[in-house]
Amino acid sequence: MTCSAGERFGFIGLGNMGGPMAGNLLKQAGRLLAHDLDANRIRELAHAGATAASDSAAVARESSLILTSLPGPKEVEDIAFGPSGLIETMAPGCLWIDTSTSDPALARGIADAARARGADFADAPVTGGVAGARDSTLKFMVGATPDVMDRAHPVLMAMGAQVIHAGAAGSGCALKLVVNFLGIAHTALAAEALTFGLAAGLETETMLATLAGSWGDNAMLRDTVGTAAEGHWGFARNLALKDMALARASAATMSARTDLMTALHVLLTADSETSGDLWEIVREYEKASGTRIAGYRR
Ligand code: NAD
Repeated sequence: MTCSAGERFGFIGLGNMGGPMAGNLLKQAGRLLAHDLDANRIRELAHAGATAASDSAAVARESSLILTSLPGPKEVEDIAFGPSGLIETMAPGCLWIDTSTSDPALARGIADAARARGADFADAPVTGGVAGARDSTLKFMVGATPDVMDRAHPVLMAMGAQVIHAGAAGSGCALKLVVNFLGIAHTALAAEALTFGLAAGLETETMLATLAGSWGDNAMLRDTVGTAAEGHWGFARNLALKDMALARASAATMSARTDLMTALHVLLTADSETSGDLWEIVREYEKASGTRIAGYRR
């Protein structure tokens, strides 16, 4: 065992991200109590040596350190404050680390409620996608006190490559929303700029060669075009929509100007297809302009 000797780990939410993260933690910790609403997800991890838990309360009662990876704030709030929720069932001294992309205000509320029970909470959303979860190369953005941070750090490093202390509770979620706003915005910008150029008669190759290293360049522009032939990059469009709705709702509670955030949220909501991959945005721009970026590779 190389991480956090003495901790009894529990993991709730074994989906696209949580499944491989829990698998990597299990490899390091040697044992893990695991739960998901989907029995197949539990079974997969049990094959790798985890112990199946019948519900989240069972995880809370048996664990000193609980990790969650849930779809969004609704599920996080339910699991915290719903019947037999973690706030009620986790023992004093327990640490709950939520890696979901969730709401900063909710994270602050959970941290306060946990503290009132003699337990701790950290919001620690991730960036790096499913591949990062599989390869333990995730970057965690953590909202927690310095003490909680010290305890969380080795556990997170068992599942990732970088742990950033964003600030107090809620700051991890806020930082994640900043990162995803820019990532999603850069995707839409790349699609709009390149299809505009193609419609004006330019070649993709000419545009990319000129943009490289210029002030118009960005990582999503390179990735967008670089992966165009595959037609997707594994980030669900409904997650992008959730993130932008969360960012807007959070911004509405403070004095932050959000013209571009609002435009992006409207763009993501306007098109009929909201399932599938974020890549669809590129397709929609191509369709609207009668152009095709796809197929070009640097
Ligand atoms: P997912 O839908 O694949 O997994 C979520 C899992 O939680 C599912 O297996 C679901 O059954 C389970 N679940 C939901 N409610 C539950 C409950 N009450 N008790 C137990 N299990 C419950 O989602 P994902 O793609 O793994 O994303 C998880 C989180 O990570 C999200 O907040 C997402 O925004 C964030 N995230 C995702 C990616 C990505 O590329 N997929 C990247 C970075 C961050």
